[in-house]
Amino acid sequence: MTIINQDMETDATVYKTLLESTKAIPWQIDWSTLKFSYIGPQIERLLGWSPSSWVSVEDWASRMHPEDRAWVVDFCVAQSKAGTDHEADYRALTKAGDYVWIRDVVHVVRNEQGEVESLIGFMFDISERKTTEEKLIVLQRELEELSFKDGLTGIPNRRKFDSIMDEEWANASRNHQPLSLIMLDIDYFEQYNDHYGHIQGDDCLKRVAQVLSSVATRSRDFLARFGGEEFVLVLPETDAEAARKVAERCRNVIFKEQIFHEKSQVSQLLTVSLGIGTIIPTRNDEQMTFIAEVDRRLYLAKQKGRNCIV
Ligand code: GH3
Ligand code: MG
Ligand code: MG
Repeated sequence: MTIINQDMETDATVYKTLLESTKAIPWQIDWSTLKFSYIGPQIERLLGWSPSSWVSVEDWASRMHPEDRAWVVDFCVAQSKAGTDHEADYRALTKAGDYVWIRDVVHVVRNEQGEVESLIGFMFDISERKTTEEKLIVLQRELEELSFKDGLTGIPNRRKFDSIMDEEWANASRNHQPLSLIMLDIDYFEQYNDHYGHIQGDDCLKRVAQVLSSVATRSRDFLARFGGEEFVLVLPETDAEAARKVAERCRNVIFKEQIFHEKSQVSQLLTVSLGIGTIIPTRNDEQMTFIAEVDRRLYLAKQKGRNCIV
């Protein structure tokens, strides 16, 4: 008998040492009194609270971020009542007034009758993981933004245009408002590249993108690089006459930028050709057909001798 007792004592010491040397904080709650029958001394190192100050379930709940408290307490109580093991992530208040992200992993202990007797669990410090997660979310957001941006000019790309166009097409249909589209292509850009080189060609595209950005001024007006040396302007709630004025402004700002283009057959300065279209979409209209029509007008402008608007 004495030998067995000694063994049990040794076991208890081993378990206690093991429990209190882990980084996670072990704890036990007596379900009938809702009081902590045990809390690991590690709580003091992590949160600053002494184990003796960690007495009731209220001590636990009150030292939680107000935004987390309601759902965490409701969730843990419901799970415990149902006798289901569970876990919850929340921000625990430190004695110094800061918050530490905790994952509380809870095991429900039942007696022989199957009634909930106590809860035992571990609190894990997951602040590092949360920081990494938050950084990842920021990175993901940045990546998403980048995926909608043209790498060379910094203005929105074709992908963004597609999504904006879907949105504005739907708006225009719903509100029976005119939607205008301007497609614009640099004249003789192949020759520009051949004569001045690709690097200066890139530079030219950046300048064109920059001056075009200043043309459309309403908050929902939208400019994108459609491809190579083509740009596109989406003008919601804009009728044909107003769109025509914006297109004229495009021509003017590019001309005023005075980008020399010796090899152009229409001017000594860089010029563009433009196609415009305006539509109040009805159920029978297809967005693709409308875009193709504006593109066709751009092609007509090229045929008409370039440096003009169709
Ligand atoms: P047009 O007057 O009929 O529009 O003739 P164009 O020479 O402007 O048109 P074309 O489509 O024949 O040539 C477009 C040129 O644009 C060819 C391509 O090398 C150039 N280009 C496309 N993207 C870029 C780019 O990112 N940087 C540079 N430097 N050039 C580009
Ligand atoms: Mg061109
Ligand atoms: Mg082109």
